Amino acid sequence: MMNFRHSITFRFTIWYLGILTILLVSLGTGVYLTLSLTLYGNLDAALQARVTQLSEFREILSIIAGGTFEDEAGEYISFYFYNENKLRRISPRGKDFPVRHEIVDKVLAGESLFADIEIPNGGVFRVFISPFIPDNPEVRPERFVPEKQGQDEFDRTDHRPPHPPPRRDDIRPPPPPQNKRVLEIHKAALVVARPTGDISRVLQQLLQIMSGALPLTLLLSGGGGVFLARRALKPVEQIADCARQIGETDLGRRIPVQTRDELGYLAETLNQMIARLERAFERQKEFTGDASHELRGPLSVIQAEATLALGKERSPNEYRKTLETIAGEAEHMAHLTGQLLELARADSGKETYAFERLDLNELARAVGSDMEVLCREKGLELQLQLGGPVLVRGDKKSLRRLIVNLLSNAFRYTDSGGMIRIKVKAGFREVSVIVSDTGMGIPEEHLPFIFQRFYRVDKARSRDLGGSGLGLAICKHIAQIHKGVITVESQVGKGSVFHFRMPVNGGRLSEAA
Ligand code: ADP
Repeated sequence: MMNFRHSITFRFTIWYLGILTILLVSLGTGVYLTLSLTLYGNLDAALQARVTQLSEFREILSIIAGGTFEDEAGEYISFYFYNENKLRRISPRGKDFPVRHEIVDKVLAGESLFADIEIPNGGVFRVFISPFIPDNPEVRPERFVPEKQGQDEFDRTDHRPPHPPPRRDDIRPPPPPQNKRVLEIHKAALVVARPTGDISRVLQQLLQIMSGALPLTLLLSGGGGVFLARRALKPVEQIADCARQIGETDLGRRIPVQTRDELGYLAETLNQMIARLERAFERQKEFTGDASHELRGPLSVIQAEATLALGKERSPNEYRKTLETIAGEAEHMAHLTGQLLELARADSGKETYAFERLDLNELARAVGSDMEVLCREKGLELQLQLGGPVLVRGDKKSLRRLIVNLLSNAFRYTDSGGMIRIKVKAGFREVSVIVSDTGMGIPEEHLPFIFQRFYRVDKARSRDLGGSGLGLAICKHIAQIHKGVITVESQVGKGSVFHFRMPVNGGRLSEAA
């Protein structure tokens, strides 16, 4: 059984969870940042709007100075009054609200700016500070008591209005108190502050929800992922089990194809592979059977002849005849084993070929002239229709073997008085070697099979004539390694034409062409 850590299910789930985590964290971060930016942006906009509203409110100074101004809930509004660059007074609420001097200095220089200020026990406030040029440069506080001489002289007493505070829509400056020192204001800083507590609470809650939801989502998705992957891959296990059970002896069995999806396709592909293996296995068995059968024939003859000869004293003539028979059978066996070896090497794919430029006409002429004497002896006419050089790239030994096999067959299956012709034709794309004879021909029903190993139309006759049934199978293989084809046309009693074609410049030929 496979280790879970090495399974596709495990890797699939890990990848899936990894991607999901990245997506969820990015999404959460996006939501958090957007919300935070929006909420703080809204707060800043509200602060700015408030400052604009207050700046346009002409009597504001007097109201604030009089301590009768009502802040909105949770809001702090204060003024820092300056006279000859000295801080003279901070309006009542400002005392609760420490704005650092360097910030105020910047504002007095004409800058408006935001700041976050933390008040002990009061939380964090978002503050907008803006320069304020009073319309009426005189502020008359109820009392003006400089606390200390020097740079910061201001009144720290709380100024409550002498009368009830005005309603918001009817804010009127309180009557200027009499006999009080008048402070002339040259510059002021307007500070509007609002608490950020609500916003940070909302964001905090969001963070809590998200950090609780993330592990839960991952846990559920991980479980779902494992379940789905297991379900999807279950058929793979079944296919593997089934394939493992199919051994050498039951190659006839097939994996059941249950679906038409990728796994069905996999099962079908494996089935095709098993079918190919089965065919190859069958062929192998047939071939071995045929080969031993072929070898047993001459061996039995040799054995019988030798036993017979050794049975009693024979004349030298009889011994010679026996030895001649034995030699003939041994030669046939040698020829057969040579051909078997050749095919076995071709099957193993380890045969090496020496491809070179060669002249097919010259090759055909050489083989033809080797056969001439034999033909003459049998009373056959051999015609060589060969012209100038026909150059091809090929393995000389193999092409020679192909021509020899075709001519030997023509020789073998043509009776005395007949004619054999070999012709080489050079075309634009391909060259052909045509071997024809006026021999016995091949019945049509046998034509599709004669290139198979050990297939013979007339076994006894072929055997008597020294055939093995392997010659044409070897020719077919040689044609294939030269990317060519070999075909046959034949008529019983009239003769046969064997046609080998191979491409001149690479490419591959098909039998239909
Ligand atoms: P063999 O060694 O028996 O000739 P081949 O593979 O060369 O084996 O040929 C297969 C069979 O094809 C032969 O047994 C024969 O019946 C038939 N055959 C091949 N060439 C010819 C031919 N030129 N004329 C008639 N029959 C042929």
